[in-house]
Amino acid sequence: MRPPANDDLLTGLDTPEQAGEVRPSLLDGDLEGAMVVRPAHYALRRMMVVMTPEATPEQIDAVVSRLEARGLHAKVMPGELTTAIGAIGDPEGVRELGLEGLAGVDQVIPISRPYKLASSELSHHAPTVVEVDGRRVGAPDSFCLIAGPCTVESPDQTRAVARAVAAAGASLLRGGAFKPRTSPFSFRGLGEEALRILAEVRAETGLPVVSELTSAEHAGCFAATVDVVQVGARNMQNYGLLEVVGKLGKPVLLKRGLSSTLDELLMAADYVLKEGNERVILCERGIRTFETATRFTLDLGAVPWLKLHTHLPVIVDPSHASGDRRLVGPLARAAAAAGADGIIVEVAEDPEAALCDGPQQLYAKDFARFAREVEAHAGLLGKRLA
Ligand code: PEP
Ligand code: MN
Repeated sequence: MRPPANDDLLTGLDTPEQAGEVRPSLLDGDLEGAMVVRPAHYALRRMMVVMTPEATPEQIDAVVSRLEARGLHAKVMPGELTTAIGAIGDPEGVRELGLEGLAGVDQVIPISRPYKLASSELSHHAPTVVEVDGRRVGAPDSFCLIAGPCTVESPDQTRAVARAVAAAGASLLRGGAFKPRTSPFSFRGLGEEALRILAEVRAETGLPVVSELTSAEHAGCFAATVDVVQVGARNMQNYGLLEVVGKLGKPVLLKRGLSSTLDELLMAADYVLKEGNERVILCERGIRTFETATRFTLDLGAVPWLKLHTHLPVIVDPSHASGDRRLVGPLARAAAAAGADGIIVEVAEDPEAALCDGPQQLYAKDFARFAREVEAHAGLLGKRLA
């Protein structure tokens, strides 16, 4: 095993497998007691400095300055009782700083996950709430209903859907402007014209807008018109794009890649978070499995797993997961019951005429009833529409 390098800490090269972990749970079938045995150096790769409850802001600043002077990335996380400082970079460097001796420092402990900034360990297990124009995404008592057409096709088509979903209590409007299509000859969206249409409809309905950025060259345009920047499944590991959206300073909706593990999703989120953008919403949208009956396989287990392992909000996309509007209601309700912080669904007035994803789009006329049923399931967990 080569010694850990600085870069490994954010590139995913230090996955448990590469670090030579043994998972006894996989050997003896004891999933409840899943414990991971790591080589000694593995546990030392990422560190957290926990301050005493009495630590002063000056003492916290002193720790941050020391870490930064050593070339480490420091993230201050104030908690209810104590402040923790995540130190990301060469752990040997952290140890050599002798931080335990500094005033206000309680302990220096390793963080045991391959993802760092997205880890719930870094946030004292407190959830991050992403606020979008007054709507709270990720709060324990709120559920975010994002709805709208797959693709913006015209002002009238977008306006009609937006009015229907707004009337039924939707929190945000979705609408694709730049579409990532499997074939380059399919309809790829109206581009900047679609962003202008979304801005108009936003002004009319008051619904904040979510749209997908597929290339860094459009980032400026998105910064000016879109409230939440979506990074689609096909770009989850487009690290350059993730850094660009990290720098935009807008909330980001990061969708899970078609064949990506949850660890990889969280490490992708780290790319956005490390740019100082803490407003990241994760989305489970179905993955590729051997099953072909549904468009993808919705991994509902991802919802409670992510809620355990990350502080970021988690939403579900039952439309792209199923590919079939008849499955969207049950999957959306199941997502709410599993503890998701929201859903993102496709809705059209006339799905048969849609240029993209017609079969999975809900009829706008049915949306109000759909929303009430999902809301009732979210209500079982004490959540109300954001
Ligand atoms: C979308 O939401 O418009 C989309 C293309 O989804 P995904 O990236 O999950 O396929
Ligand atoms: Mn779609």
